[in-house]
Amino acid sequence: MDFSFPPEVEAFRTEVKAFLAENFDESMLDVTHDGTMHVPELHAALAAEGWLAGPVPKELGGGGRTALESIVLNEEMQLARAPIDAMGVTVITAAILMEHGSDHLKETVVPALLNGEALTSFGYTEPESGSDVAAAATKAVKDGDEWVINGAKMWTTMAHIADYVILLTRTDPDVPKHKGLTFFLVPFDSPGIEIQPVPTMATERSNATFYDDVRLSDDWRVGEVNGGWAVMKTALKYERGVAGGQFMSPPVIDAGIDWATNHERADGTRPIDDPAVRERLIRAQIDVEVCRGFAYHCADLANEGAMFGVEGSMTKLFASETFKRHCREIHDMMGAEGLVTLESPEAHRGGLIEEALRHSPVTAIYGGTSEINRNMVAEGFLGLPRAR
Ligand SMILES: Cc1cc2nc3c(=O)[nH]c(=O)nc-3n(C[C@H](O)[C@H](O)[C@H](O)COP(=O)(O)OP(=O)(O)OC[C@H]3O[C@@H](n4cnc5c(N)ncnc54)[C@H](O)[C@@H]3O)c2cc1C
Repeated sequence: MDFSFPPEVEAFRTEVKAFLAENFDESMLDVTHDGTMHVPELHAALAAEGWLAGPVPKELGGGGRTALESIVLNEEMQLARAPIDAMGVTVITAAILMEHGSDHLKETVVPALLNGEALTSFGYTEPESGSDVAAAATKAVKDGDEWVINGAKMWTTMAHIADYVILLTRTDPDVPKHKGLTFFLVPFDSPGIEIQPVPTMATERSNATFYDDVRLSDDWRVGEVNGGWAVMKTALKYERGVAGGQFMSPPVIDAGIDWATNHERADGTRPIDDPAVRERLIRAQIDVEVCRGFAYHCADLANEGAMFGVEGSMTKLFASETFKRHCREIHDMMGAEGLVTLESPEAHRGGLIEEALRHSPVTAIYGGTSEINRNMVAEGFLGLPRAR
């Protein structure tokens, strides 16, 4: 088997590495310590390269980047610890608007998203529906020429810095749940919106957002009335390569190897001299290679025009479950020193391992929980009976 990428993809990797060397260094992460996972200068630089619409086809106004190039951009950014959240939300929302948006949205909002001036957020999850996203209950009702929106969304990450939310609403409660959904792009400066912070144990800030008689013209509708599920499929199509954290572990493992090699114990030995420590670190590196294989396989399928399903679930499941284990084991290996947080100047590598340990559980929740992904693998790959 030949695992190498075509030369033009490797050339793009070199370009991305050079871009990151010029536009990102870890000190820029200081602005994320309040829990907002966004580095404005980096986002602006990505926009200037034209990479925010990279994977969207050229005929729709995107960059026409292949899925292999998208995964390489995603990989290199994660290896450098550059946040990918704002890029992922922007690419997916712009792609949705380019495919399903009204002329008004294509002419006004898309250019602002792509040149990095405007930010958006996802409004799918609600207090009573998350995994079962099609059960969304936030109501949109037609009143003359306008839509009136009422409801609440949970976990609207980045809402507090975003200009818009792409909102999943129920427009017909009397048909099967997938068939009564409609998307809107809602400007956050519309009257009737409230944003409340939701802090997390990972330091990351998310939000609860509330919509009280929010009025919008039909220009803000995205896709057909009751055609929300088709729009959702477009979102999933573009998630390949740009969303998800397939390469979250390497910086943590690297920091763990660094600590184990350079830390001297009271008896003069180093943790790396302990075969049990070496075995843990080597097993973690093997997981990274397996995960890379899964991720590249998905990108390869997408490159050939296939819409992957269960392969995406396998990748997400493996990436987040092994990330949780790597963080736990490396943190455990560090003993008391692992407890030093990023606020302390003594923290090893800026407290990266301790922070990653707190962040790792959520990676098995957002973007589809591990239980849901296990169900998908069980049913779609192993042929086990449906659990629901
Ligand atoms: C920090 C953070 C940021 C987020 N950001 C966003 C965002 O920006 N926009 C957005 O829309 N959403 C966001 N989410 C929401 C996220 O996608 C949901 O939390 C996730 O889909 C799970 O939904 P839920 O929380 O309602 O849990 P539930 O769906 O209620 O699940 C509860 C538990 O039951 C299990 N479960 C549910 N159904 C099944 C089943 N059929 N079989 C087996 N087990 C099952 C789940 O795995 C889980 O363990 C974010 C969440 C977090 C924590």
